[in-house]
Amino acid sequence: MSPPFLKRRTGWLPAAVVLAVVLITGSRLIMLSVQQHAETAREASRAEATRAALSIESQLQVLTGLASRQAARAAAAISGDAAPQSLAEVPPIHNTFWIATDGMLVASRDSSVTIAKGIVSEWASTAPLRNASAPSVLGPMREGSQWLVAARAPIRPAGSNPAAPPAAWAIAYVDLDQLLSSTHLGAIVDAGYDFALTQVEPASGRSRIFLSSRTTPLDVAAERTIHLPAGYLPAIAGSYLQIAIRPRAGWYPTEELATEIGLLAVLAWLLAFGTHDLTHSLLRLRAGLAASRRRVQALTQRLSSEIEQRQDLQKSFDHARYHDGFTGLPNRRYFMNQLDRALGDVRTRRRQRIGIILIDIARFRLINDTLGHTAGDELMVQASRRFAKATAAFECVLARWSGDQFAVLILDLPSPEAAIALAGVLQEALHAPFDLRRHRLSVTASMGITCADSGPQRAEDVLREADIALSVAKRHETTKTVAYVAAMGGQAATLVSLEADLHVALAKNELRLMFQPIVDLRSYRMVGAEVLLRWRHPVEGLLTPDKFLSIAEEAGLMVPVTRRIILRVCKLAMEWRRRLPPGQEFYLSINLSAAVLRDPGFSDYVESVLQETELPATSLKFELTEATLISNVGAAREVLERLHRMGVQLMLDDFGTGYSSLNYLQLFPLDYVKIDRPFINRTGSEDANTGMTQAMLQMAPSLGLTAIAEIIETEAAANALRQMGCAFGQGYFFSEPVAAELALQFLRGQPFQARQPAAGAIDGGAAVVAPIAAPPAIVAPPISPREDDSPTMAMPPLSHGDMDDDEPAILVRPANRPQRTTG
Ligand code: C2E
Ligand code: CA
Ligand code: CA
Repeated sequence: MSPPFLKRRTGWLPAAVVLAVVLITGSRLIMLSVQQHAETAREASRAEATRAALSIESQLQVLTGLASRQAARAAAAISGDAAPQSLAEVPPIHNTFWIATDGMLVASRDSSVTIAKGIVSEWASTAPLRNASAPSVLGPMREGSQWLVAARAPIRPAGSNPAAPPAAWAIAYVDLDQLLSSTHLGAIVDAGYDFALTQVEPASGRSRIFLSSRTTPLDVAAERTIHLPAGYLPAIAGSYLQIAIRPRAGWYPTEELATEIGLLAVLAWLLAFGTHDLTHSLLRLRAGLAASRRRVQALTQRLSSEIEQRQDLQKSFDHARYHDGFTGLPNRRYFMNQLDRALGDVRTRRRQRIGIILIDIARFRLINDTLGHTAGDELMVQASRRFAKATAAFECVLARWSGDQFAVLILDLPSPEAAIALAGVLQEALHAPFDLRRHRLSVTASMGITCADSGPQRAEDVLREADIALSVAKRHETTKTVAYVAAMGGQAATLVSLEADLHVALAKNELRLMFQPIVDLRSYRMVGAEVLLRWRHPVEGLLTPDKFLSIAEEAGLMVPVTRRIILRVCKLAMEWRRRLPPGQEFYLSINLSAAVLRDPGFSDYVESVLQETELPATSLKFELTEATLISNVGAAREVLERLHRMGVQLMLDDFGTGYSSLNYLQLFPLDYVKIDRPFINRTGSEDANTGMTQAMLQMAPSLGLTAIAEIIETEAAANALRQMGCAFGQGYFFSEPVAAELALQFLRGQPFQARQPAAGAIDGGAAVVAPIAAPPAIVAPPISPREDDSPTMAMPPLSHGDMDDDEPAILVRPANRPQRTTG
C-alpha cells in the first residue's frame, strides 16, 4: 500500500500531464497561428507599400517629365544664342523656373521667387550647380510652411557639348502634399496600417522622416524604396526615399493573442481540473470499494465467529440439556431419546435385542442424611465412574436416572443372559468400599433388568418392566439383581417410569382437578377453593402431585399442564357463576411452579383466557411458594406485577415451612399468605409453630396480607386460629380436596359444621366435616362408575374443557387418603 502523500501526488499526476499536453499543443497552435497571421499581414503591408511607392514614383515621373520638357523648350529657345541671358526672353510655365550657373534666376510671373530662391539655395548646399551635369531630384525640402520636391534638367542648346556642365537648368517643383495626393495615404491609415515616408542617406547613415501616421519610429515594417525616374539622380548622392508600412495593431494583435492564451489557459485548467476530479473520483471509488471489501470481510469474520460461538453455545446448551451436572453422565431425557431410537431399531430389525438395567443405590437417603449431601453427591460421582469403567467394553448408554438411580441401555445384546452378566459386572464394581471424606462405606445396589427383542414395544412399557423388576429386587433380601418376567406384570412399579407415562397422560386426559374448599373461619362458609392436581394413572391408580410433579417439572411439562389447568378452571368458574345464585362471589386458586413463571407468554395467556371466558379476574387467584419466588426474583416480579395489575390476586403458599423471609415478601405484590401447618412443626411439637403463626397473624394486616391457615385437621385448631384473628382456613377438618361438582354443592349449600370424625379417621388426626344438610346429590358412593373403568383405558374427554375434572364425589375416610409426610 502506498503512503497517503504519494497517493495525493498520483492523484495530481494525470492532471499535470493533461495540463502540460494541452499547454504545449495549445501554445504550438497559437504560435503557428501567430506566424500565419504575421505572414499574411506582412504580405498585405508589402503590397500596400508597393502600391504607394508606385503611385509616388508615377508622380515623380510627372515632375521629372515636366522638368525635362521645360529644359528642352528653353534649350530650343536659346539655341544658337549661347548666352543664358536670353533665357529671360523665354517665360517659364507655372511651378517651373530657370536658373543659370551664374546665378540668374528666371521665374514665371505667377511663381514665387522666394520658393525658387529657396530651392536654388538648398540645391547649392547639396551639390554646387556648376559641378553636376546630370538631371536630379531634390527633396522633399522645407520651404516656409511647405514641403516641396523639385526636379532639375540641364538646358543644353543644340550643338553644345553634352559632357560639359550646362550653363542653365530648368527646375520644376511640386508641393509634397500634391505629389502624395494620388497615393491616398489616408486610405492606408483607414485600413488599419501605419506608414512612414523616410529619406535615407546611406553616406551619413541618417534617415529623415517626412511623413508618418505615428509619432514613434516604425520598426519591423514592410519597406519599399521609391525609385527615381530613369535618368534622374538624387540631389544628395546615394540618398533615396523609402515608404514603410505596418499594421497598426502589430504583426500579431496582442488582444487576440491574449484572448487566445486566456482561452488556452482556461481550457487547460478545465481539462486538468476535470482530470483531477476524475482521477480523484476513481481513487475515491477505489478506496470506497476497498473499504467496503474490508467491511464485508470484517462482517463475514464476525458472522463466522458468532456462528462458531453460537454453535459452541448450542453444544454446551445441548450438553446441559442432556447431561447431569454432577456426574457428567447423560440424563433421563437423553436416555429416553436413546431408548426410543433403539426400540425403533429393534422394530426395523437393525438391532436384534436391547437391554435395560435400572440401578438403585441402597441406603442412599440414609447416607445423605447422616453424612451430608456432599458425601451423597461424592458417592454418586464415584459410583458413576465405576459404572462407566465397567460398561466401557459394551455398546451402551449409562445415564443418571434420578438422585440415587442409574440406568443402562445396552444397545446390542446377543442374549438376555448377557444383560444379567453385565449387571453382575456392575454389582462387582460396587464391591470395593467407597472412600467418602474420612468415611469408608460399603454400598450395595438393587438392579432390575429387562430386554426388548421384538414387537411394537413402547419406551414406557419397557421401562415399566425394568422398574417392576427393580421393585422386586428391592424387596428381596438376598437377590439384588432381578430380570423381568411376564409373571411380574401385576406388581407395582417404583414409579421410575412415570415420566414416560406422563406424556401419555396428557394426551389421554388422565390428569384431573380436585378442589379443596377455603372457608371463612367465623361463618364456616366456603369462600373459594384451591385447585389440586391428580393423576389417574392407569396402573398406579390415583397419584398425588408429590409423586409426579417433580418429574413433570423435569420433563418440561409444567407449562403446558398449567396452561390447561388455567383454561379449564376459568371455564369451570364461569359455569359455577351461572349455576350459583346471582351475586355469590367465590374464587379458585391455582398453584404455580417456578417453570411457569419462566414461561415468557404466561401473563399474556392468563389475560387471553380471562378475556375469552369473560371470568372476572377476582375469581382467579394464584398460589406461589417462597422457593418458587426466590428461584427467579426478576422474572417472578415482572409476571406477578402484570397479573396483579390485571386484578388477579396472589397468595404466598406454605408460609412457615421455608425461608419465611419477610424481606422477600415485600418484593412481590402478594395479597394472601397461607400459613402451613399452623400447629405442627417438623419435630411434631404443636407449640413451636404457634408462636410463628401468632406472629404472622399479627403482622399480616400491616403487610397488607390476608392470612389463610392450611392443614386444619381439628375443630380445636379451627377455633384457636379464629381466636388468633385468622379469617380463613382450609383443611381436612372442613373438607378434603373434592371433585368439581361436590365443591359447587358446598358453595351452594349450608355452612360447614363439625361432625364426629368417621371411624378410623383419628389415626390420621383429621376429621371430615360436611355442610349441614348437604344436598343429596353429593352423597355419592365412594367409588363412582367412572372409577370402575378399566384403569388402562383413557378417560373419555368431557364436552367442555381439555381436562376431565369431573371427578366423582369421593367421601373416603381421610386415613385412606394420601397423607403429607412431615419428614
Ligand atoms: P399445597 O399447595 O400446600 O396444597 C395443599 C396440600 O395439602 C394438598 O396436597 C392437600 O391435599 C393437602 N391438605 C389439605 N388439607 C390437609 C389436611 O388437613 N391435612 C393434610 N395432611 N393434608 C392436607 P396435594 O393435593 O397432595 O398437593 C401437594 C402439593 O402439590 C400442593 O401443596 C402443591 O404445592 C402441589 N400442587 C398440587 N396441585 C398443583 C398444581 O396444579 N400445580 C402445581 N404447580 N402444584 C400443585
Ligand atoms: Ca397450595
Ligand atoms: Ca400449602
